[in-house]
Amino acid sequence: MYSEDNLLPLSALQHLLFCERQCALIHIEQQWDENVLTVEGKGMHKRSDQSQTESRGNIRLARGVWLKCLRLGLTGRADLVEFHRIDSPGEGVALANISGRWRPFPVEDKHGRPKKDLMDKVQLCGQALCLEEMLNVRIASGALFYGKTRHRLDVVFDDDLRSQTEKAARRLRQLLASGATPPAVYEKKCDSCSLYEQCRPKLLQQNNASVWLTRMIREAVV
Ligand code: SF4
Repeated sequence: MYSEDNLLPLSALQHLLFCERQCALIHIEQQWDENVLTVEGKGMHKRSDQSQTESRGNIRLARGVWLKCLRLGLTGRADLVEFHRIDSPGEGVALANISGRWRPFPVEDKHGRPKKDLMDKVQLCGQALCLEEMLNVRIASGALFYGKTRHRLDVVFDDDLRSQTEKAARRLRQLLASGATPPAVYEKKCDSCSLYEQCRPKLLQQNNASVWLTRMIREAVV
């Protein structure tokens, strides 16, 4: 268990899975920059910046919910947690000043489209693991809402996703504790990276290659 003052941001899981160097630049070197994608993303998150609740039939909506998980050492804010009314008395959670049992269902807004990798799902699963610890309940699924496609994708928190999320949380802690930023390696994803200018992956990769080549030549001569 981690203490309250030793928690890492849930959002860093996504940075880590996108690129460990980007994660280190943001969370170790405190560098950040806006690009079109992050600005769009911020716009989507704005409406959940303040905590608020509302009711829609058998669903209660809580926006901007603070989360923490001492077991994994994570903290953050959920865009939206829906509470679905259920009939089973032994399941779900109780809500203050309202009767019945309710099943928590985290929903995260994302700009863009659904991705092939696990980044978004891991971040959502991280939120679910926080809610599970805070509410002492098992959460089976949640959803990602994509702004570009206006599509809501249901995500099942199965054993594999839970294990990938826990692995990412451990790796995040290891990376940040090392205090070392990994070297740049240019890939296609770099073109959409908000830290491209600070990172300069093509230039640094070239420099790394020439340092390597010089060393090889020197070793061959000796
Ligand atoms: S530009 Fe590429 S290597 Fe550099 S931080 Fe971004 S994704 Fe990582």
